[in-house]
Amino acid sequence: MKGCIFCKIAVRKTPKKFIYEDDEIMAFPDINPIAPVHILIVPKKHVPDFMDLEEDKIFSKLRKVAQKIVKKHGLEGKGFRITINAGGAQIVDHLHLHLIGPLGKAAKM
Ligand code: AMP
Ligand code: ZN
Repeated sequence: MKGCIFCKIAVRKTPKKFIYEDDEIMAFPDINPIAPVHILIVPKKHVPDFMDLEEDKIFSKLRKVAQKIVKKHGLEGKGFRITINAGGAQIVDHLHLHLIGPLGKAAKM
């Protein structure tokens, strides 16, 4: 979608180093991290809001990629959060997961 920063990243109009990429999903560090690991996991297809998501395929892919990245970044068992801001709480109107960690009790061990 024109003017959408994540769509520009998806088509490489805006350069971005990906942590993960396949035909449908991309993942890259949040430009404004709130924890040592703060990664955005994003479908390349422009879905403006969680409430616009009408099929499970994208969600299932996001789940698989998120689990892969949790393992790759050593967050398993360390406490992490996966967030979707939606319904107007989001800044970028292109569906994405925030993966944020390490957090919580396990992180202090
Ligand atoms: P939200 O839409 O509120 O769920 O969050 C959007 C997130 O995207 C924010 O945490 C921003 O820091 C992040 N962000 C915005 N533009 C970029 C960019 N070009 N590269 C990486 N992260 C970005
Ligand atoms: Zn978009």
